[in-house]
Amino acid sequence: MLGKRQDMTQLADQQWDLLVIGGGITGAGVMLEAARRGLKVLLVEQRDYAWGTSSRSSKMVHGGLRYIAQGDVKLTRHSLLERERLLRELPGLVERATYLFPLRKGVFPGRWPMKAILWLYDFLAGIRDHRYLSLQQVKERAPSLNADGLTGAMSYTDALTDDCRLVMRTLLEGARHGGVACNYLQVTSVKRDEKGFTVSLNDQVADQDGAVRAAQVINATGAWADRFSGSEARVRPLRGSHLFVDPERLPVSDCLTVMHPDDGRPVFVFPWEGVTCVGTTDLDHPQDMDIEASASSQEVDYLLTLINSQFPGRDISRKDVFATIAGVRPVIASGKGVDPSKERRDHAVWGDNGVVTVSGGKLTTFRLIALDALLATGLIDEAAHRQGQKTRDPMYRPLESAPSAVENFLHANQDDTAFFDWLLEHEAVEHLDDLMLRRTRLGLTRPHAGQAVIEQRRLQIQSALGWDDVRWQQELDRYLNIHQQFYGVPTGVLESRKAS
Ligand SMILES: Cc1cc2nc3c(=O)[nH]c(=O)nc-3n(C[C@H](O)[C@H](O)[C@H](O)COP(=O)(O)OP(=O)(O)OC[C@H]3O[C@@H](n4cnc5c(N)ncnc54)[C@H](O)[C@@H]3O)c2cc1C
Repeated sequence: MLGKRQDMTQLADQQWDLLVIGGGITGAGVMLEAARRGLKVLLVEQRDYAWGTSSRSSKMVHGGLRYIAQGDVKLTRHSLLERERLLRELPGLVERATYLFPLRKGVFPGRWPMKAILWLYDFLAGIRDHRYLSLQQVKERAPSLNADGLTGAMSYTDALTDDCRLVMRTLLEGARHGGVACNYLQVTSVKRDEKGFTVSLNDQVADQDGAVRAAQVINATGAWADRFSGSEARVRPLRGSHLFVDPERLPVSDCLTVMHPDDGRPVFVFPWEGVTCVGTTDLDHPQDMDIEASASSQEVDYLLTLINSQFPGRDISRKDVFATIAGVRPVIASGKGVDPSKERRDHAVWGDNGVVTVSGGKLTTFRLIALDALLATGLIDEAAHRQGQKTRDPMYRPLESAPSAVENFLHANQDDTAFFDWLLEHEAVEHLDDLMLRRTRLGLTRPHAGQAVIEQRRLQIQSALGWDDVRWQQELDRYLNIHQQFYGVPTGVLESRKAS
């Protein structure tokens, strides 16, 4: 398992075949695919695992209806086949969910264009799951949905997951194959010589510098990729934010795709881990990437406007929102100044001075992205790459010794003693925020940043991590501060106007 972090001297004593920079889903996928092939691989993450975009997605393992609507059949097909693979391999962590696309009089796309798109979507995945729902059936399934002009809905299926847990599960599997991962270890420089690479590191926990040697380096730092890619900037950082809303105030039982009244953009409203999740926005993110991304008050207003137009009787306001989250999508820029929502979502792999950079793409296709990156380093050849793309061999084996919440996370009680024991012993928890925001999502899905759970679990956490009362207080302050600054609900124009 991931257990305790190795210190810099232990890491520096070894010669690595591959060093992976970045502990999001892309880096985790590369680590697993490399370790499975017997390579000696080290992954380093500057903050916590999945701290970047991979904890901040829309949680969908999907082909993406918008990609098919944009004519990108190849990306859709690859994504759908990966979706089906993950559904088979990780039941309980990746689960099929019903999606409803409400149809309204005079609004494109209507029933028949949607039916054609969904037929193709299902065909590419090898399933047949779409159907038309009458107005009456939609009203039964989504009673609070605005009924103005509503004529029915198209129903189809896609999948939902917990993005952080998918990263952790992939890292745990990679570690079983001998891969080593270290969080809070930041790469500060990469230098090439005739024998390989010297990678300088800063240990953010011990506040110590060091270096390791590796034959190959893959830069899987997503939205941060340009820092090590050597080339001119290729990544266009686009921010997307979500709200986690009190499910008693906004209950939904399916994933609804609803259109924003101001700009007609589709936004998802869906049930996730006991709350109602609403998102996303899509806008340029020129902010400093060293500062954790957060939702702006304008984004919160935008999403609240959507909710109140689509669910008019609910009168949802900031006080109904438990938390927000914002992620920065590493989109490979077309350089044509196009609308953010129209940029393509493919990944790109490129090399500079021996360092292979991989960025862009989706959570869903991480395995294929990893194979492309490994091919570019020469650590696998064309034949192995083709074989890897096609294989139906399982990627994950059951974690027999783990409590059921690890495999069955979407249905588990996250606040469970045995699960906490496992997390504290096997999943490299360094800070309270790791535990509340990423190993579990209790900080997002419970009111008041999940403080009731924290108090209840205090002794268990302190004793497992050896934290005295002073350290406990520091961790609590750190967590609450992070939550308020980056996961809180910023006061908005609408709200402050109401208050004055
Ligand atoms: C709002 C939003 C919604 C999305 N929804 C979906 C969805 O529903 N389905 C889907 O399939 N995809 C979705 N995506 C896309 C998906 O989330 C991303 O493509 C994916 O998470 C990117 O993973 P990554 O590992 O490449 O990047 P990241 O997860 O960002 O990982 C990169 C890591 O590199 C680390 N790093 C940076 N610099 C250094 C350094 N110097 N040293 C060490 N580590 C470093 C960072 O801390 C970071 O953790 C969404 C994206 C966004 C923004």
